[in-house]
Amino acid sequence: MGYRTDMSTDVVIIGGGLAGLALASRMVKAGLSFQLFEARPHFGGRIAALEGPSGRVDLGPSWFWPGQPRIAQLIAELGLQAFPQHAAGEILFEDTTGKVHRGVGFASMEGSFRVDGGMIGLIEGLVATLPKDRLHLSCAAEMIGNGMVQLSEGRHCSARHVALAIPPRLAAGLRYDPPLPEAAQVALATIPTWMAGHAKFVATYDHPFWRDKGLSGDAMSRNGPLAEIHDASGVEGSPAALFGFVGVPATARKEHAAKIKEMALQQLARFFGPDAAQPKQVRLQDWACEPWTATPADHTPPQGHPDYGLLPSLVGVADGRLHFAATETAPEMGGLMEGALASAERVARIIIEDMGAAATPG
Ligand SMILES: Cc1cc2nc3c(=O)[nH]c(=O)nc-3n(C[C@H](O)[C@H](O)[C@H](O)COP(=O)(O)OP(=O)(O)OC[C@H]3O[C@@H](n4cnc5c(N)ncnc54)[C@H](O)[C@@H]3O)c2cc1C
Repeated sequence: MGYRTDMSTDVVIIGGGLAGLALASRMVKAGLSFQLFEARPHFGGRIAALEGPSGRVDLGPSWFWPGQPRIAQLIAELGLQAFPQHAAGEILFEDTTGKVHRGVGFASMEGSFRVDGGMIGLIEGLVATLPKDRLHLSCAAEMIGNGMVQLSEGRHCSARHVALAIPPRLAAGLRYDPPLPEAAQVALATIPTWMAGHAKFVATYDHPFWRDKGLSGDAMSRNGPLAEIHDASGVEGSPAALFGFVGVPATARKEHAAKIKEMALQQLARFFGPDAAQPKQVRLQDWACEPWTATPADHTPPQGHPDYGLLPSLVGVADGRLHFAATETAPEMGGLMEGALASAERVARIIIEDMGAAATPG
């Protein structure tokens, strides 16, 4: 089939989340040309922040952990500041009757690290290093042809390599000409998108008042609507914020969003006192309602962390010119931000080898 070509490049990257941007950065370092297309009107994908007058609070990922060298290196390269997740103070537990118990449970995120200014700093830092004329927002891939991508508004881009840095289930929903091998099509549809079925409720305050009461901000609940709550404040408690993972199933959330917000504030007040019911800002960020992240299959999240990795049926597709680069296809730490970087590294290595270009270390 013949298509009109608007653009031509070495590598088309679909998706401007952490994996896509990290891959673009590696293409620049290797001296290869690329064009990156992002469906949303902004970069970051699952990495996003609530903007407030005193700073930003993570709406997607909050933490990275020791033993994740790629994320640590990226933070250092971009000149960002890491700080430990606040964990000092007592932990709370709410039973099924709504009774709150002090000092029960454990600080599940103690030992993890956050990024000053929010994880969105990783995205902004990467974007700042990339040539602007190769980054395209509000432009979705619709069909993957042979060395050709058809984009929204009838645009096309041809390339030797195409990298899909989008969740595999979204990749399964694209059209392919010629069609993908059936095993690859089936594999893509079965890989759950990490955290896509979840929602975060964020509340910001003038001051982290719970710390004054000897509380860490960590709480677990069997009552809800929030199931697990953490201190989401910035360095030295500014901006002051709490967040909770919503325990209500995705299918019920959209319809009841206003009620969930009201009940979440009541719950925070049960845990941390009446000040918690007087936030400066609140946000219910429901990732299951984001069509560029979640599919209906993601509305029921996996029970545990899936054993991600690149399935054999997804290797060498389209004569080794079509690559799957999202975190869910990472050789290690799949699902996590570290996995997104590991996946970009793996795909970059294959492309650079094929193009015979010299990679710059890092
Ligand atoms: C609530 C939540 C909490 C999390 N907590 C953590 C944590 O604490 N630590 C951690 O390490 N990880 C965490 N994660 C996971 C982390 O967010 C991901 O590992 C990482 O952001 C994935 O990056 P990615 O680039 O692979 O995918 P994405 O961020 O999903 O990026 C894919 C991009 O592709 C775009 N796109 C989709 N379809 C198309 C199309 N057809 N055309 C063009 N563009 C398209 C999307 O808009 C998106 O920008 C969390 C995720 C969520 C949602």
